[in-house]
Amino acid sequence: MDNDIRLGSIFGIEIFISYSWFFIFGLVTITLAFGFFPQQFPKQSVAVNIAVGFFASALFFASLLFHELSHSLVANINDIPIKKITLFIFGGMSQMSGEPQTPVAELKMAAAGPASSFFLAGVYFAIDRAMISAGLPTPLYAAFGWLAEINFFLAVFNLAPGFPLDGGRVLRAAIWYLTNSLQRATKIAARAGQGVAFTLISAGVLLFLFGQITGVWLILLGWFLNQAAIASYRQMMVEQSLSTTDVAGIMSSDVETVSPDLTLEELVNHYFLKYRYGRFPVVDNGSLLGVITLHDIKEVPREDWSSVTAGEIVEPILEDMFVAPSDPAVKALVKMAGADIGHLLVVDENKHLAGIVTRTDIIGLIKIRSELQL
Ligand SMILES: [Zn+2]
Repeated sequence: MDNDIRLGSIFGIEIFISYSWFFIFGLVTITLAFGFFPQQFPKQSVAVNIAVGFFASALFFASLLFHELSHSLVANINDIPIKKITLFIFGGMSQMSGEPQTPVAELKMAAAGPASSFFLAGVYFAIDRAMISAGLPTPLYAAFGWLAEINFFLAVFNLAPGFPLDGGRVLRAAIWYLTNSLQRATKIAARAGQGVAFTLISAGVLLFLFGQITGVWLILLGWFLNQAAIASYRQMMVEQSLSTTDVAGIMSSDVETVSPDLTLEELVNHYFLKYRYGRFPVVDNGSLLGVITLHDIKEVPREDWSSVTAGEIVEPILEDMFVAPSDPAVKALVKMAGADIGHLLVVDENKHLAGIVTRTDIIGLIKIRSELQL
């Protein structure tokens, strides 16, 4: 996600564009300028076709942005916070922080996208008709005709009832409303998403076998949708498991600690070389003083290792290096990701070291829970 380019922000929503979009932009421009327009206007110059193709691509881009903004604005009105929109190869994505709170909010948010694309299709169609009746000779109106078609297609395609497409979100909202279970609704809607993906792939293969190169696009689109359906379902499972489990339930409580009286010489020989960990918590009578790392030891000249003690150089541990046993596991994962470390110390309210939690513990939990569908 670091490779996305920030375009700016509208209504407090950051707009990003993926590099893959330049590929689509180029492809659309070329297809229009060298395929679609010359067929309709054989006498038009290449330069005009390229210019109009470019213009149509830009409006196509604006249409996708309009579609995503509609989702995001309706979401924000319904208390589903959206801070970011990313436009990428197959359209756009509004990034929610968390799941919607109610099925009705999700339904409104999901329906806003296709509704906006139908609206745009109507507007472009009206412009197209108006230009034709005004007798304009340029391929400009063909560009609007194409934009009307593509927006209509976008609206219809997005209404396919497979999660995470908009139609799949509508389906999820409906099942959620009926069953009162977001988890079950997501599972069924994601299965439906895989069904839609499989249909697209099959249709793509058939088209390709009959010599239609557009089949390749359907195969790609289907493949992409299948991945997205699996990923969205997993992501929801992960969020659910991690928010209902606390750190105490997955941490290991036997942690190798060191006493502050040990010299660095002893630390190196009896701890770092023996256990081969990169750091040890320094604990005095049960209370945690801090963490000593290999790096801290390297800072001290070798000849002083036999006289300097761990207690003299230990650094107090920072807020983002530990969690409380009662914290949800998801908080531990977020902290690890934020500090880019693989583990956190678990410290209770009396500053006592309760244990250690690692990324592997959390991933193990996710695996088992999703395997058992808990
Ligand atoms: Zn949409």
